[in-house]
Amino acid sequence: DETFAIQTGSGGVHLIDDQAARYGRFDDVTIVGLVESEWPERPRRNIFYPPSLLNALGWPSERDRRAAADARFLDLVGSSGGRVELSTFTLEDESLVTRSLQLDEVPRARLSTLRRGEPPAHTRSTTSDWAALRSRRSAATGAEFHGSIGPRATRPWSVSALETYLGCPFKFYAQHVLKLAEEPDDEEMMDPRRQGQFVHAVFESFFTAWSAAGRREITSANLDLAQGMFVEIVDHALERLSEGEAGLERTRLLGSPAAAGLGDAVFRMEAERPVPVVERLLEHTLEGAFTLQTSDGPRVVHLRGKADRLDLLADGTFRLVDYKLGWPPDRSRALQLPIYALLAEQRLTKHRGRSWSLGEAMYLAFKGPKRVVPLFTSNGNRQELMARAGQRVAETLDAIEAGSFPPSPDDVFRCETCSFSSVCRKDYVGDI
Ligand code: SF4
Repeated sequence: DETFAIQTGSGGVHLIDDQAARYGRFDDVTIVGLVESEWPERPRRNIFYPPSLLNALGWPSERDRRAAADARFLDLVGSSGGRVELSTFTLEDESLVTRSLQLDEVPRARLSTLRRGEPPAHTRSTTSDWAALRSRRSAATGAEFHGSIGPRATRPWSVSALETYLGCPFKFYAQHVLKLAEEPDDEEMMDPRRQGQFVHAVFESFFTAWSAAGRREITSANLDLAQGMFVEIVDHALERLSEGEAGLERTRLLGSPAAAGLGDAVFRMEAERPVPVVERLLEHTLEGAFTLQTSDGPRVVHLRGKADRLDLLADGTFRLVDYKLGWPPDRSRALQLPIYALLAEQRLTKHRGRSWSLGEAMYLAFKGPKRVVPLFTSNGNRQELMARAGQRVAETLDAIEAGSFPPSPDDVFRCETCSFSSVCRKDYVGDI
């Protein structure tokens, strides 16, 4: 054990709590941590006696306690011989905290307000470098503190990356510019990305085997055959997975007594449509220069993407299919499917010696009230949706080239599942 002599003296900086501060005399006072849960301190409730009984016994009421706490706070604020600075914060360990309501009492202390400027003369001799550095601090409103990194060179982007940008520009920056790895959700089970890859691979294997067997479209006549072949392919693919994962994926693809699987939805959708399939393009890569119609006229952009499935039909149209393990995206915000439709129309010119136009675009979704969700419901709706998607791509590319990556999610709930929340200064936090 050791005994330390208490440091005494009247100079220097004293770091003390508010109880001790009442007994000192100070030139400058800085009160930090003025948040609701600590200023004033929460009173301890008496669990033995009700407030009415305590009142009758002369105990101070909650109101009196609060008035006394405010008076002590104002004494402290007014105790400085020179200046007093008050400091609060609104974010602590990723949680929102509220500033102390006692700050509303400060005008009662009748202090005059100073602009922060040069440090006072008496501090220059001892702490001049530090004080000068603090007073020269860049303005917090500077664009560089709000996601702006300056112009960037043009380069091709994937459509899914642009969709990430629209969800949150900073998430795009963390993932595609800084290339930070996303944390896996659960090491025991496949994360959503791997689940998606698995489901896509199963459908690709099925349609490859179906074509190799000399078959094209799925009709009501060969529906049972397709379902039987699909079960074999799924069972074979599940052998690579753990028991828990295999059970989950089997239910997802083949269904359960309670709900049909994704395979059933895929086959029935096709069997209900009369136009025969000429060719299927599976996991079809679309990349290179494309022309988009924007409000400033046609614009050539460099993009890449992979369409889950393109069915070329006998009437010269194509059907674009996107498998979704979760809910289908909000069609007014979705980018991938409308843009893939535009890119496919341009890339398929002269395929098999003819041009192909978009007939249908749809999500085959595992979650939600409907398995088959069309991208557009009418021709007018289709033109508007495609034009809006082209314009959004152009605007997003402009924002990326301008180096603008603010942490501003389109929906704040996105942050709850975001892998990059620990590296992100959530600018919007004060506005929730
Ligand atoms: S935590 Fe929220 S604001 Fe930050 S990157 Fe993720 S989505 Fe964007």
